[in-house]
Amino acid sequence: MPDAPPTATDLARAVRARETTPQALLDAARARAGAVRGLNALISLNDRAEEGAARVQARLEAGESLPLAGVPVVVKDNLNVAGTRTTCGSRILANYVSPYDATAVERLTAAGAVIIGKANMDEFAMGSSTESSASGPTLNPWDRERVPGGSSGGSAVAVAANVTPVSLGSDTGGSVRQPAAFTGVYGLKPTYGRVSRYGLVAYASSLDQIGPFARTAEDLALLMNVIAGHDPRDATSLDAPPAFGAGTPDDLRGLRVGVVRESLSGNTPGVDAVLGETLAALRSAGATVTELSIPSVRHAIAAYYLIAMPEASSNLARYDGMVYGERAPAPDVTGSMTRAREQGFGPEVKRRILLGTYALSSGYYDAYYSKAMRVRRLIAQDFARAFASVDVLVTPTSPFPAFRRGEKTSDPLAMYAADVDTVAINLAGLPALSVPAGFEVVDGVRLPVGIQFIAPALKDELLVTLAGGLEGVGAVRVEVAAGY
Ligand code: GLN
Repeated sequence: MPDAPPTATDLARAVRARETTPQALLDAARARAGAVRGLNALISLNDRAEEGAARVQARLEAGESLPLAGVPVVVKDNLNVAGTRTTCGSRILANYVSPYDATAVERLTAAGAVIIGKANMDEFAMGSSTESSASGPTLNPWDRERVPGGSSGGSAVAVAANVTPVSLGSDTGGSVRQPAAFTGVYGLKPTYGRVSRYGLVAYASSLDQIGPFARTAEDLALLMNVIAGHDPRDATSLDAPPAFGAGTPDDLRGLRVGVVRESLSGNTPGVDAVLGETLAALRSAGATVTELSIPSVRHAIAAYYLIAMPEASSNLARYDGMVYGERAPAPDVTGSMTRAREQGFGPEVKRRILLGTYALSSGYYDAYYSKAMRVRRLIAQDFARAFASVDVLVTPTSPFPAFRRGEKTSDPLAMYAADVDTVAINLAGLPALSVPAGFEVVDGVRLPVGIQFIAPALKDELLVTLAGGLEGVGAVRVEVAAGY
């Protein structure tokens, strides 16, 4: 097996030790991005990256010690980076240039990172496969015939194919964890409010969270310590200073792990096998593993889509070609707005705006949206009850590894069902981490499998501690996809 590629921790240390420079790392990341261009992981390259690298260099020379000194980073194309295009994978924002940095981006840059480009995504983060982008689909580096997961597929592939050691995505119902699982890297969805959403283009505001992709627990910790923490510009931001660190096997001793019974059926044999191996590793490290039930998760998919779509229909009302989006020529204002939306949005976005508007309309509100909100409360209560007896919960991240491109594009319900193990966590606002825990061979191809750990609200740190422990006992399997 080739040497593991350098981590963000390694690169920042090398830059601080003057063994390399931010510009050299930028050049290497760009070369790598060029070499794997066929995967279509990036929508655009940041032509201000040189300036960024030069600024980091100057700060180093002025004696600053930067935690992410010179580390090249890719962020999902729904995060604003001043001076770059932020398209959200949509035609309607094809020419939108961000006037400001998202808080998470600002914090990365302040810590010395260099944003090298914007990652491909499902249009407006709606999807589970990164096939609905106006910039074309992203391919899975383990098998180009398969999807990388979504909606943050580009961010996942950037890390899996070693364009950058770390990246940012957003997770509304699984969009960081599921692509992490499909591409064999870590993906963390923090507690709702832990990372500021300021500058993240809204999909479903009560569910959206920014989260990191990485290849090691140490890098996850490094990134979270930079991007998490209170931000007065996001009213839902929590005042909980980050204190992340990768743990050791000692941290697994005495840990009470609860396996969610509802996630045990309907998995592929490989997913079952990897879950079994992970649980065995936990047990031999001294954790106690029990099975428990969270009955309301059966309704999570239905409740999730009845909440996400209405929120989306409201959030996306701003794209009408007047302030946001391409203005469409028409004899009157209404005609212009209608045309801008007709031409600018893809079919999945339109479907969700229609369904979301319907679910909110008078006469249907009580039957759909309001009932979904009650289910949401129930799910949160069920999780809270479970955490009275265990420290963390575990499920597969997805019941299956990466599926084939085109397999679910004509069947929206099948696509929605891909999120069966992830959406409940967003409804409850909890933190969850997908750990790259093994592989399943499907039709002769080795495909990564992810295992999801869920913690109580604000215990995000425990997930990264646990990941470090799992690395220490050899239960984490990260490889750069063969051939890339
Ligand atoms: N697949 C889910 C959806 O389409 C989740 C997307 C996300 O997390 N952004 O809504």
